[in-house]
Amino acid sequence: MRFASIGSGSRGNATLVSHGKTTLLVDCGFSARETEKRLQRFEIDPSTLSGIVVTHEHGDHISGVRVLARKHKLPVYATAGTAACLSADVMSLVKEFSCHETFSIGDIEVQPFPVPHDAREPSQFVFSDGQHRLGLLTDVGISTPVIEQALSACDALLLEANHDMDMLDNGEYPDHLKYRVAGRLGHLNNVQSAKILEKIDTSRLQHIVAMHLSEKNNSPNIVRPLFAEALNCDQSWIGLAEQEAGFDWREITNS
Ligand SMILES: [Zn+2]
Ligand SMILES: [Zn+2]
Repeated sequence: MRFASIGSGSRGNATLVSHGKTTLLVDCGFSARETEKRLQRFEIDPSTLSGIVVTHEHGDHISGVRVLARKHKLPVYATAGTAACLSADVMSLVKEFSCHETFSIGDIEVQPFPVPHDAREPSQFVFSDGQHRLGLLTDVGISTPVIEQALSACDALLLEANHDMDMLDNGEYPDHLKYRVAGRLGHLNNVQSAKILEKIDTSRLQHIVAMHLSEKNNSPNIVRPLFAEALNCDQSWIGLAEQEAGFDWREITNS
């Protein structure tokens, strides 16, 4: 199983997960045109995607879903709550899933789990090829036992490191936005994310990539040492997803 990001941050998110003949786009927070352009960098023709799996209805995760899905006739996987927020003309492509039931799309098994975030029915995922597990967690206000159980013993983790608390406090965001981001239904700060890494079983971990970094309220120079300390590893091992470039394919191997 391999995975990549075509961009991650408050201005748009989309992740690629691929195994065998199946390639999923997880979220599509860029315009359809921009998504097509970014997929070209990975030599992916959008019409060959196996589907779009949506975490929740915020614009930085769904803004391109409608046009891309309709243009390329792609199934859109969403919870009933998320689907209720999608436009009517895409509903014929929607396949609803339960946050509590694992399902398969082609060669990839998708294990959703519910998360606290200010959306209708948000979920995040563990993807599996039957052998390895890739955990994805972004857009979460606080950690929960359900989250920690799902992300334990993964071979790769894509983990939100949204903001540094001091940078957010002292930054230019208006107060209501500061409260929202830092709130229990907002986003994980760096320390919260590092605590998750300390708590869960990371003995199988081959890849860790920090995701959804705020360009205004965070810095890779703060995230890397925190994550490295939590995992007791070298800072150079901590991957970072960028808003423009995302990150290139990473592969989970048998070693
Ligand atoms: Zn987001
Ligand atoms: Zn969100």
